[in-house]
Amino acid sequence: MTLTEKDSQYLWHPYTQHKTSQTPIAISRGEGALLWDENGKEYIDAIASWWVNPFGHSNKFIADAVYKQLTTLEHVLFGGFTHEPAVKVAEKLIEILPKNQQKIFFSDNGSTAVEVAIKVALQYFFNKNEKRTTIIAFENAFHGDTFAAMAASGISFYTQAFQGMFIDVVRIPVPTKGQEQASFDALTNVIQNHNCAGFIFEPLVQGAAGMVMYKPEALAKLIQICAANKVLTIADEVMTGFGKTGKTFAMDYVSEVPDMICLSKALTGGTIPMAITTFTQDIFDAFYDDDINKALFHGHTFTANPTGCAAVLASIDLLQTAEMQANIERINASHLEFQKKIENHSKVITARTLGVIFAVEIKSDSEESYYGAMRTKLYNFFIENGVVLRPVGNIVYILPPYIMTNEQLQKVYKTIEEAIEMV
Ligand SMILES: *Cc1c(COP(=O)(O)O)cnc(C)c1O
Repeated sequence: MTLTEKDSQYLWHPYTQHKTSQTPIAISRGEGALLWDENGKEYIDAIASWWVNPFGHSNKFIADAVYKQLTTLEHVLFGGFTHEPAVKVAEKLIEILPKNQQKIFFSDNGSTAVEVAIKVALQYFFNKNEKRTTIIAFENAFHGDTFAAMAASGISFYTQAFQGMFIDVVRIPVPTKGQEQASFDALTNVIQNHNCAGFIFEPLVQGAAGMVMYKPEALAKLIQICAANKVLTIADEVMTGFGKTGKTFAMDYVSEVPDMICLSKALTGGTIPMAITTFTQDIFDAFYDDDINKALFHGHTFTANPTGCAAVLASIDLLQTAEMQANIERINASHLEFQKKIENHSKVITARTLGVIFAVEIKSDSEESYYGAMRTKLYNFFIENGVVLRPVGNIVYILPPYIMTNEQLQKVYKTIEEAIEMV
């Protein structure tokens, strides 16, 4: 049996209707921005393997740090024990995060980072004997697939089977251009009519919604409204963190600071599953008590895994090199040029860029659904041409590893231009 035949016998893939989907491509090797399948066909990974891999596949610097850690202390339980890699990660993050972030809590993936933040928001008020149980989130948000994260997510595709089983979430419009006032008004209205504990948002870019972008000034205003009403704010930087928007964090563009931040994806440079939720001292203090019942009773077996921590430290080192910062600027400049070139094309509705993120919306005669016909046609065209891109309906986005060469980038652009002509 071939690898793909064995795969179809034993495996269940994420977000996949196995009856109608094509067989998956078996990838045997990755290096830099490139992947190779079992037949030796080469692909450019133009979405950094679901936004996790900024420094390239099989990165030697991270691999060396991980090997060293694996042969020193691969894992130890974090209940009652601590270790240097965890402390160093905390120190490093506190140095680079918005200044009010003072406490670091580890988990294993973006969904759990969000799950922890939402549980903390709810228990924060429980511990203070205040009845606040509503969470506010944006329309079309994506925060993950565990229950609270799913409740906060607005994409019905992912959540429809579970309607009626969720914590209380109220949705407000995203303050995209022209929608700012509607978003502010909706937030004020929700806060007046519900007992709100927290507001969770993807800062500046909603990834899974199709790289929907909005301005830092609008987010600052929403945070101000929450702060004035003592509603805790949660910046879900799982996608935007670690350079994707051109700054280390999307919140670095915003004049206000959030109460909590969720991190994962590029946290370990795309090597080891790990996530972190960060908090202000004020939030930590609401759990700090002689009463054990006020503690945060949440944890995962692999919490603060030292090997994962070693990957985090190596990744942040790479991100902070002048070379990597120059790469981010180079890709941004290149995207802006490509945007100018195609935004007036008759088949393009709009194009947008922030940092290394680029998205283009393609005109379509029919209503395009998330996994609709146009999406499939585009996806297959890209794969045939050796480019990994996963369109969201009629939106094609690029989120390349920062080490992608100009030549590779040009090939990605050219393939997108051809795809626009083709559909
Ligand atoms: C991907 C993502 C998540 C979920 O992360 P997982 O690691 O897939 O659980 C949460 N929030 C945002 C903004 C994401 O992009």
